[in-house]
Amino acid sequence: MSTPIAPVPRPGIMDIAPYIGGEAAGTIRLASNEGALGPSPKAMEAYARVAGSIHRYPDGGSTELREALAKRFNLDAGRIVCGAGSDELIGLLVRAYAGVGDEVLYSQHGFLMYPIAAKSVGATPVAAPETNLKTDVDAMLARVTPRTKIVFVANPNNPTGSYLTGEELARLHAGLPPTALLVIDAAYAEFAPPGGDYSSGVELVEKHANVVMTRTFSKIFALGSLRLGWSYSSAPVADVLNRVRGPFNVSGAAQAAGVAALEDAEFLERARAHNEGCRTWFVGELKALGLTVHPSIANFVLVSFQGQKPGKDDAEAARQFLKDRGILVRQMNAYGLPDCLRVTIGTDEEMRAVADALKGFLAG
Ligand SMILES: *Cc1c(COP(=O)(O)O)cnc(C)c1O
Repeated sequence: MSTPIAPVPRPGIMDIAPYIGGEAAGTIRLASNEGALGPSPKAMEAYARVAGSIHRYPDGGSTELREALAKRFNLDAGRIVCGAGSDELIGLLVRAYAGVGDEVLYSQHGFLMYPIAAKSVGATPVAAPETNLKTDVDAMLARVTPRTKIVFVANPNNPTGSYLTGEELARLHAGLPPTALLVIDAAYAEFAPPGGDYSSGVELVEKHANVVMTRTFSKIFALGSLRLGWSYSSAPVADVLNRVRGPFNVSGAAQAAGVAALEDAEFLERARAHNEGCRTWFVGELKALGLTVHPSIANFVLVSFQGQKPGKDDAEAARQFLKDRGILVRQMNAYGLPDCLRVTIGTDEEMRAVADALKGFLAG
């Protein structure tokens, strides 16, 4: 009898704990940071309009969409690269710039796709400790080595909701060698209050060859199902991404809906204002219940049950209590935050239901 021989994947692959998305079988779905108001009606119309031409390959260069993005955000269209979600672009950057023996640096409670993407190419993910659930610039810089190829910062970060100011981002960049690529994942940029000290990192991209900003249509634009994201970088990095991406990586429907969503400025502002008002109200309610809510500028909040009386300090019990009432929120064990739940900001009605349910949980 011969020993069965099976194909073996490359180093790192079997170290990956598969990413588990937010649960979706519930009436109130607050586990995946999807837009509370749903997509723009204009985006839905554009999506419906292309139904008759889905036999055609899409424009492989996403030209119209890149031009619309360039116009909307005052950028150079030639340095924008579109992807099937920003997750695709994160994966492509890691594939292009890191491999076995290289290090990919991120922050302790940073977005889980960074270590997953690093392992998928056999690179070593390195987590820098955080201070008060916020990226610590000095701790990050202290972990930079000659092997550091990519430094990821989600700004604001998912799941903590905290952010680095423009000045802090610049300080992080200034401490990096020019050979390390700084990837600023600004998936929630549009939720930040206008005129504040938040930065999506775009000004660093304009000045430096080793900075990439990634953005998504999945969050405030609420087009998660279409898989649409984009990056802005120096021309050499954009060139690299264009070489490694699939020739038709973004569907025609996603391109059309994306262009229409960008045109609907009124909807975008309504979504931003709703989020800010509703989040402020919700945080106030939870604090009144005695819960600890980490400050967030995004469309979710991290709620800690630590310090509650015995039995009520169990985030998993709270999650199950909410689930039994049809409310889905995100468990945080995979992020090393087992005392916490992440709750997406939904509609006013949904958030009232969550606040009422949590009141019931703590009282019971
Ligand atoms: C949701 C999210 C993304 C990924 O979004 P896509 O749907 O792949 O565009 C990227 N980064 C962070 C921090 C996110 O929370």
